[in-house]
Amino acid sequence: MDEKESEKGNIDPVCGMTVTKEDAACSYEHKGKTYYFCAESCRDQFVSAPDNYTTIPPNK
Ligand SMILES: [Zn+2]
Repeated sequence: MDEKESEKGNIDPVCGMTVTKEDAACSYEHKGKTYYFCAESCRDQFVSAPDNYTTIPPNK
């Protein structure tokens, strides 16, 4: 189930919205991973402080 969801959409790390690649207003590559955002303002927030949004708890 998780795999299917991660294929279908990407979580906007700033606001938590699910954004598909088609829906994304913009994207940004950070440390080799591409993030998708619902709006440029979300991306701007991410770019200004990526560490705030990329500290994901370890998920084994
Ligand atoms: Zn957003």
